Amino acid sequence: MKLFDITGKVAIVTGGNGGIGLGMARGMASIGAAILIAGRNAEKSEAAVAALRAMGARAEGTTVDVTREDQCVAMVGEAIRLFGRVDILVNNAGMSIRKRPEDLSEAEWHQVMDTNLTSAFLCCRAVYVPMKTQGGGKIINIGSMMSLFGAPYATPYASSKGGIMQLTRSFATAWAADNIQVNAVLPGWIDTDLTRNARAQVDRLHDSVLARTPAGRWGHPDDMAGIAAFLAAPASDFVTGAAMAVDGGFSAQG
Ligand code: NDP
Repeated sequence: MKLFDITGKVAIVTGGNGGIGLGMARGMASIGAAILIAGRNAEKSEAAVAALRAMGARAEGTTVDVTREDQCVAMVGEAIRLFGRVDILVNNAGMSIRKRPEDLSEAEWHQVMDTNLTSAFLCCRAVYVPMKTQGGGKIINIGSMMSLFGAPYATPYASSKGGIMQLTRSFATAWAADNIQVNAVLPGWIDTDLTRNARAQVDRLHDSVLARTPAGRWGHPDDMAGIAAFLAAPASDFVTGAAMAVDGGFSAQG
């Protein structure tokens, strides 16, 4: 058995046009997967596709708003049209609106929940029939340290990321018999566009993350490559419903 060879497999990465999603796409491409980068910003997606092709991978881009069910279904159809199948889904697209709960509007709450949580529900359902028909698949949902902890500026974000863990467990139990493994990854603090904005908005965030992270550094998107490769590969065929921290020890620190 080749534990870490996914040559011929096809992965969709939502929000894969930068940051953590692109780091995970690189990890899966490095062990043979073809990648469909799915984001809203076509220019960013083109650059990500070029970067993956430069490492020798088969890669394409498509435009999707993951809050829209019809577009999630169309994204899966596009993977099948371009590559003939879909084996791996990474639900990575996400955003945050950083305000105290008393200052948030209902629309802002829904925007974060729809982008981070409902999107995963919609995309999982969109890949189910193709994966089941093919005999199995892998789904990787991106949680956060905010799946475990709270923060005054992160009520909808933390609620959505806590929900990602329970969504993961529920889909894992529903689809294990179909040989579809569903797991969550909880990244620590990774240097991306999202956290560059957070550092601009949240006082002393940079230094407090450094102080709390036993590894003594912020993570890099490439730190997420290995976990994506593992959870996409046959090596993880009996791993389902798990939530794995990739955080330099952040969540282990008391
Ligand atoms: P980025 O902002 O770089 O990535 C977020 C991606 O989500 C973008 O590529 C964006 O694509 C996409 N996206 C947002 N909304 C939509 C939408 N409605 N439809 C389609 N795509 C969308 O940040 P990160 O790489 O940091 O974030 C990736 C994931 O990792 C998120 O779920 C985030 O919550 C999570 N995370 C990040 C951590 C960190 O420290 N960086 C820590 C823990 C979790 P486009 O620009 O094309 O819209």
